[in-house]
Amino acid sequence: MSPASEITQDLDLAAATLRRGGLVAFPTETVYGLGADALNAQAVARIFEAKGRPHFDPLIVHIADEQGLARIAADCPDVARRLIGRFWPGPLTLVLRKRPEVPDLVTAGLDTVGVRLPDHPLARELIARCGRPLAAPSANRFGCISPTRAEHVAEQLEDRIDLILDGGPCRVGVESTVLDVTGSRARLLRPGGVPQEDLEAEIGPLEVETRIAAGTGAPAPGMLERHYAPTTRIVRWTPSLRIPAGQRAGVLAFREPPAGIDFQARAILSPRGDLAEAAAGLFAAMRALDAAGLDVIVGCDFPDEGLGRAINDRLRRASAPELPTA
Ligand code: AMP
Ligand code: MG
Repeated sequence: MSPASEITQDLDLAAATLRRGGLVAFPTETVYGLGADALNAQAVARIFEAKGRPHFDPLIVHIADEQGLARIAADCPDVARRLIGRFWPGPLTLVLRKRPEVPDLVTAGLDTVGVRLPDHPLARELIARCGRPLAAPSANRFGCISPTRAEHVAEQLEDRIDLILDGGPCRVGVESTVLDVTGSRARLLRPGGVPQEDLEAEIGPLEVETRIAAGTGAPAPGMLERHYAPTTRIVRWTPSLRIPAGQRAGVLAFREPPAGIDFQARAILSPRGDLAEAAAGLFAAMRALDAAGLDVIVGCDFPDEGLGRAINDRLRRASAPELPTA
């Protein structure tokens, strides 16, 4: 592993690094991913090591084009075909039955695999040049805030990975929607960049998973309760919320901060009320508030529609009580 991971725009260097089993962070339209050759179990093991991610948390496999799917998935049901036609490339991960070539480590021992065709030219070119599908979770330490810029990756994973491919800020800013299409009815495992309403307009009502599955093999890593979290405590805003005297509070809100609280720092994600703009700025705003020397961050609810659902989901998890350490 290199002493300090280089930030580069050299696609050939990045592809060569991946082919020899290295770790490369790369931009996608959602957040930066931490990529390794998905068919090389040793390379994939290094992802878990670098992130400090538990092995029961499966990884999404990224492909360069639709043809790449046949190498990963054992089959592709009609409903998946329709969704692929409408939403790929894009922020939609489909959970499908896996082919035996996909290492168990990638899927946390499940017989299914999450696959995505990202809508980012650098990501697709990298996968194409490398010639392998890439397993890639978000390029942050486990449980922390996802990176939407190359510098965010360097802050958390510097020294732990080989290379960071710089593609500027991510356009969507929240992770992909994860949809399990292996059953008789499609099941939403994680709200994300493709709104539930858009999926339902295409294939009808979804089942919505709201709890972590009991026992091992959690079906969705994003479903872990504490996740996407800054180190500063986040509380959700309610009308009765009071900040104790002497405490420095910051606010993260959609169009305007709530009245009646004296905030020392404010992140208003879209004064004009655009949820896409808000999602794109969410994680960078959390980072900025986290660095502002606050005692508490007050997170306000977003409209529960479209991308607002993904934002609310991330805020809810960021404010969940810390998990007991295992
Ligand atoms: P991230 O760490 O942000 O890349 O999150 C990975 C996401 O992949 C999780 O939230 C899961 O929902 C999803 N995922 C990957 N593989 C599977 C799988 N086989 N079954 C269910 N969800 C999966
Ligand atoms: Mg993640």
